[in-house]
Amino acid sequence: MAWFTRQKSDKEKIEDNDRKVRTEGLWFKCDSCRQIIWKKALEESLHVCPKCGFHFRIDALTRLNMLFDGAWAKHDERLVSTDPLSFVDSKTYLDRLAGMQKSTSLKDAVISGSGHLNGRAVNICALELKFIGGSVGAVVGEVITRAIERSIEQRRPLIIVSASGGMRMQEGAVSLMQMAKVSAALMNMDEAAVPFISVLADPTTGGTTASFAMLGDLNIAEPGAQIGFAGPRVIEQTIRQKLPEGFQRAEFLLKTGMLDAIVKRAELKRFISKSLDFFCGSS
Ligand SMILES: [Zn+2]
Repeated sequence: MAWFTRQKSDKEKIEDNDRKVRTEGLWFKCDSCRQIIWKKALEESLHVCPKCGFHFRIDALTRLNMLFDGAWAKHDERLVSTDPLSFVDSKTYLDRLAGMQKSTSLKDAVISGSGHLNGRAVNICALELKFIGGSVGAVVGEVITRAIERSIEQRRPLIIVSASGGMRMQEGAVSLMQMAKVSAALMNMDEAAVPFISVLADPTTGGTTASFAMLGDLNIAEPGAQIGFAGPRVIEQTIRQKLPEGFQRAEFLLKTGMLDAIVKRAELKRFISKSLDFFCGSS
């Protein structure tokens, strides 16, 4: 038993804090294999576990930077929801929006961009899961519709990367209308023969799956992505049956013919580029 201890001087305390700041956050535990990974190695491998291949969720901005060659332009970044239902749950929808806008530096759950992918001019939209679960309300619906119309006008292929819990409850029927609106715009795109590639990242569920995410000329998913409409618990309770192993995972959907391909993140850009060569001829 120690009878006395030496109190640290203020200078020593500051040095300790410095040391903590410098080492904290350098290592990361993989959710899947529980191994410790060096954070820098994880960033270099595009946020895929170098030990087990688990694909971590990434934000919309990282996704767009990953797919575009160098610089790209943003569109419609100032559209905001007007809260058409004056919705209140545990807090008002307007407060929730303000909080999300502050924490994500986005006005809503999507980023729409134009640029080049392996030298070919393309438009890409990516949904932001951190913004109210990547949910689709009037703003996301409008931004995506504008991206579709822009793609038709410019005859540029469109890629939408979904990571979304579905339609936004706080906008009720207004959000459900976005499914029809975006789907109708995609039909025009189909008639104009401009390609649309849908990339389904983890998770893509609800009305997002039930509309544009499954309407691509190619529907491709990342390994292990959860893709579905209703949640598994709701389905089990409704049909009173146990669901099969791996239900609602990308691999299960590929086997049952709901997806065209599962592509690892490191190969995604090359895969999209080759598919577009096939659709449009080499750029
Ligand atoms: Zn791992």
